[in-house]
Amino acid sequence: MTTASPPRGFAADVIDRANTTGWQPWLTHVAGAGGCSAPVRLRGDLHTVDAATGVVLAERSTDSMPDGLIYKACGTRRAALCPNCAKTYQHDAFHLVRSGLTGGKSVPETVTSHPALFVTLTAPAFGPVHSRSLTTSGHVRPCRARRDATVCAHGVTLACHTRHREDAPDIGQPLCLDCYDHDAQVVWNLASGELWRRTRIHADRALSRAAKARGIAPASVRLRYVKVAEFQRRGAIHFHALVRLDGHTPGSDAIVPPPAELDTEVIASILAAAAASTSFRTDPHDESPDGWLIRWGAQVDIRAVQLGDGDMTEGHAAGYLAKYATKATEDTGHLSGRLTETTVHAYADPDGDHIARLIAACWGLGGEGPEWIGLRRWAHMLGFGGHFMTKARAWSTTFGQLRDARAQWIRRQHGVDSEAADTILLVNHLRYDGTGWHTEADALLATSAAARAREQRQLAREAQHELNTIDRLD
Ligand SMILES: [Zn+2]
Ligand SMILES: [Zn+2]
Ligand SMILES: [Zn+2]
Repeated sequence: MTTASPPRGFAADVIDRANTTGWQPWLTHVAGAGGCSAPVRLRGDLHTVDAATGVVLAERSTDSMPDGLIYKACGTRRAALCPNCAKTYQHDAFHLVRSGLTGGKSVPETVTSHPALFVTLTAPAFGPVHSRSLTTSGHVRPCRARRDATVCAHGVTLACHTRHREDAPDIGQPLCLDCYDHDAQVVWNLASGELWRRTRIHADRALSRAAKARGIAPASVRLRYVKVAEFQRRGAIHFHALVRLDGHTPGSDAIVPPPAELDTEVIASILAAAAASTSFRTDPHDESPDGWLIRWGAQVDIRAVQLGDGDMTEGHAAGYLAKYATKATEDTGHLSGRLTETTVHAYADPDGDHIARLIAACWGLGGEGPEWIGLRRWAHMLGFGGHFMTKARAWSTTFGQLRDARAQWIRRQHGVDSEAADTILLVNHLRYDGTGWHTEADALLATSAAARAREQRQLAREAQHELNTIDRLD
């Protein structure tokens, strides 16, 4: 593709693209990866197979295609890595969360009658940090006002009267780095998934008791969850979860309304009690012979989701979850891939800034034995090794189904009819060729074409919406 020619300009690359493959054939070829900033390039053979008989109907090599390659969108959920793929992920996340509250996309509309709650669970304090909070009238409070502020062993006055701006870099930073318990925080991050799992078990048991007390068979009700993990500025994980109560018919996947006696208030108190009562101790460690106590912080927030209006509607709840689902450690200011013996020293420093100390704590504690190795494996995530978004299968449709729907749309654009798509199988033998576009000109062409296609789809949707409105008026 690239020959040993002198460095050439952007315009020359655009012209080159027109001369080699032609713009339009190339844009059609790359449409599936259009908006991606770092598509995966694949090379190899594509077989079209009759699903019933296994007979190969057609065989094509990528050699016959523009650039001799297939471009596949990277599909990341991380906005910092690929804004467009993350936007697609966020869009999917929003719709699959929301449909679990409003119905649609294979979820019956009766879900609107189920109790639904938005729950925020945070980590406890590991030492005082700069923070920003608002009074009920919307004014910014002084960060940490103390009339008789104590001075710590390191000579730091543990008070701060600043009313921090929203984007102040101080927020989340410890008042005294030496007092702060970095070890406890990274261990908490590592154990947070287990804390969540145990909390759910407690909530499920409490639900069974509440059902029995009302003469309802415990097997006929279920709590369903969608949860996202988010890093706070201090580098501790916290969770936002949507919890919905469903009726359950053993042996069936159908989403049915729960008995009315188990209302939103009952479920809210079950969740609050589960969060308050769940705690456990980790394995012992040389640095903490009794292990660390793992429990939720005092800031447990549980709110009923109201359909249509209010300060926590289905749109707010789905929007929050979708927003957090595309971030990792970005808000803490740390961004790196998995760390190794050779790369960790660039980021870890037990006497450095807050993040450097957290990473140093992960590396240091993680060296003790197999039960702590997760801290090293997830040092770049400050100890957190869980998923950023998880949901019960029964919540609504899945990311896979949404991707299939999108792939069908793309197949239609390419003239492959979906009737045939059910009976034929595409079997690909593809090798990894590399990541990214060949030139900046290619990247720009593909991205702007994708933006135009998105606009056209939006216009088509609006036109369709108008037609539907007119239909109803008729
Ligand atoms: Zn991408
Ligand atoms: Zn402060
Ligand atoms: Zn101190």
